[in-house]
Amino acid sequence: MKPIYVDNNATTRVAPEVVEAMLPYFSDFYGNPSSMHTFGGSVGSELKAARGYVAELIGAQPEEILFTSCGTESDSTAIHAAIRSNPDRKHIVTTRVEHPAVKNLVEHLGKNGYRTTFVPVDRQGRLDLDTLYKSLSDDTAIVSIMWANNETGTIFPVEEIARKVRERGIVFHTDAVQAVGKIPINMADSAVDMLSLSGHKLHAPKGIGVLYLRKGTKFAPFLMGGHQEGGRRAGTENTTSIIGMGRAAQLAMQTMDDENTRVRALRDKLETELIKRVPRSMINGDPENRLPNTTSIAFEYIEGEAILLLMDQHGICASSGSACTSGSLEPSHVLRAMGVPFTAAHGSIRFSLSIYNTEEEIDFIIEKMPPIIERLRQMSPFWQEGRIA
Ligand SMILES: *Cc1c(COP(=O)(O)O)cnc(C)c1O
Repeated sequence: MKPIYVDNNATTRVAPEVVEAMLPYFSDFYGNPSSMHTFGGSVGSELKAARGYVAELIGAQPEEILFTSCGTESDSTAIHAAIRSNPDRKHIVTTRVEHPAVKNLVEHLGKNGYRTTFVPVDRQGRLDLDTLYKSLSDDTAIVSIMWANNETGTIFPVEEIARKVRERGIVFHTDAVQAVGKIPINMADSAVDMLSLSGHKLHAPKGIGVLYLRKGTKFAPFLMGGHQEGGRRAGTENTTSIIGMGRAAQLAMQTMDDENTRVRALRDKLETELIKRVPRSMINGDPENRLPNTTSIAFEYIEGEAILLLMDQHGICASSGSACTSGSLEPSHVLRAMGVPFTAAHGSIRFSLSIYNTEEEIDFIIEKMPPIIERLRQMSPFWQEGRIA
């Protein structure tokens, strides 16, 4: 049985066009782009083209694109670069709903000499901009705010925030891993200084990331060694993956329309039908400012993990709103920050679609979910006690 994959915010299928573009560079053209010979140099010209496509996707200059090993490395590089090139500044601003790649790093820095502000969100996942702006000071080294949330799809007003942060002379970084390829982004007309993206969230392979670094932004490299990436990120280039990333960027420019029309309509159908057919269900997040592919739905009084297991029996792959760490089922920090009640956070499921999903697949999910939820609720003591429906 072919799985029905609606977990694209976790990772995506590598596009067949991307695989095709990469294959020759494993075996036929394996040269080192830094080599003096023509054999290596020909790989170098492909890397240059790939850098150009990625730059074009986000409206940047090719020199502003650094290839890294993943989104996490890009986030870490950006934050470390800012604090190391502003050594007198000891304050970092971020949000309560960041991906662990930013959240855990800033928490770590908070225990190691930095003052941190984690900006709260409201019940719909919208940022408290007042708290954000009031927290800025001459001691702030960096503000790092994600463009779109991976769990709820909520989009933050990053451009507006970046302008205000720049007026204060503070560096602004955004984790745009979930936004790039899904919504238009244009660094040419932006106050964002640094932006992270990741290949495997947009149909390129796992293990390739990008850091956009605006010309003139103070920078300190994370990896030191060779002169690759203009001395800003040492290490022999991951040539095949960079070429794949370039091809994926080209494809994203072509498919963004489909993502925002057909995929958005499929997402809307999925959530409208599920909310209608399943009592005590609701959407987590801002229904207005949201990625076109994502919906997080709370099914009250049951466990997300149990829902996922039954979905899996039908070949439906999604994610829950819990982080199953050390045996305790803690609801996700994102849903907790939003104040989603315990009974709803536990039963939250994230569906994240891609251009490869079809209407038949969505109809199948709509048909299978209500009996799954009903069955689990019949077994749930919370539902039996608290039942209102
Ligand atoms: C997936 C993800 C990351 C991490 O990217 P990797 O390439 O897996 O390291 C960072 N931020 C967000 C918002 C993500 O969704």
